[in-house]
Amino acid sequence: MQNNKYFTDLDKQHYLQVYGRYPLAIKKAKGCKVWDYDGNKYIDAFAGIAVNNIGHNHPRLVKAITKQLKKLIHISNFYVSKPQVMLAKKLTEISGLERAFFANSGAEANEGAIKLARKYSHSKGKGGTIISLENCFHGRTLATLATGKEKYQLGFEPIPTGFKKVAWNDITALSAAIDKETAGVILEVIQGEGGVNILSKEYLTKVRDLCNEKDIVLICDEVQCGMGRTGKFFAYEHFGIKPDIITLAKGLGGGMPIGAILTNQKIADAITFGEHGTTFGGNPLTSAAALETILILEDEKLLDAAIEKGNYFVKKLKEIALVHKEIKEIRSLGLMIGVELSFPGRELAEKMLHKGVLSNCTADNVIRFVPPLVISKKEMDFVLSIFIESLKEVKA
Ligand code: PLP
Repeated sequence: MQNNKYFTDLDKQHYLQVYGRYPLAIKKAKGCKVWDYDGNKYIDAFAGIAVNNIGHNHPRLVKAITKQLKKLIHISNFYVSKPQVMLAKKLTEISGLERAFFANSGAEANEGAIKLARKYSHSKGKGGTIISLENCFHGRTLATLATGKEKYQLGFEPIPTGFKKVAWNDITALSAAIDKETAGVILEVIQGEGGVNILSKEYLTKVRDLCNEKDIVLICDEVQCGMGRTGKFFAYEHFGIKPDIITLAKGLGGGMPIGAILTNQKIADAITFGEHGTTFGGNPLTSAAALETILILEDEKLLDAAIEKGNYFVKKLKEIALVHKEIKEIRSLGLMIGVELSFPGRELAEKMLHKGVLSNCTADNVIRFVPPLVISKKEMDFVLSIFIESLKEVKA
């Protein structure tokens, strides 16, 4: 019988055991609804880690992918393809940055961004050190591990050198860390995996000024907070800064695996033929999906929806927090929402799952809600009611 147990047992036998997976296998999804192999229905408040921003299997996305599938799936980056070039045009228009490059994931986009920053710095006769912020997450490849938490580095030594970490929201610490070896600073304006921590506008303005003054590259990792989730296309837009490099992935392809690096001409001029590349990155299929995803975000005004729905959700959460003092803080921008608890949150997220809501606990005690931007009021109310019910049970 092909049920949840059948597939989760197979997973335990055959898959590399690196994920603490929940005991269910997902069969299909539509909009904000997800079904498992036992026939249970869930409301998705996690969107595959902030990926399905336009909802699962949006009919327009399915149509665009199917259309492209019948024409051309892959051709390599030795040739130009229409979907890729149209996507590059669209993203450069939206961002106001001159150049796009496509990768396959967020980590790969960040690796490329690090390479670009180093190349620019070396072209100026300076060093290659990349500074990141404590509590950040930029991926699981070796260079991105080097930017992140020690706990993810353990056992994978030697970790690449040329990286430094400083406290977040601390301009004195950043300023002190910059020297002639520094190539760039990489940061998330809202730290997703780190617990939905929002950097301050004052700090980010100073970071931008410092990078200008020292001629070092500012990389904004928008992998999680980008693509409309916060109510702007890119979350950094809320803070009045403009990075030299933006990295994207997750929500970019509507569920298809694609990452992107966007950069200004000054940085782009430092790199030339043969110095970076990828086989699959931005192939016709994933590019067609990403282009349609952006058009859907625009046509359905999902950026405005993210603000409006985020406000509603957070207002309700604040009412809940008045009664439940275990909620220490609610941090949010649009539909990127973190609820910090006074206790570890994994059990609460599991309870919610068993009651029909997909959510997530990050940074040990933060329940993260990053639902598709198409979530309805009724679905939000359901998520909130399950959150309260589960919170009460965990407390008891
Ligand atoms: N950057 C940020 C901010 C992320 O949240 C993530 C993944 O969670 C990554 C990079 C890595 O992306 P990927 O898992 O696609 O490599």
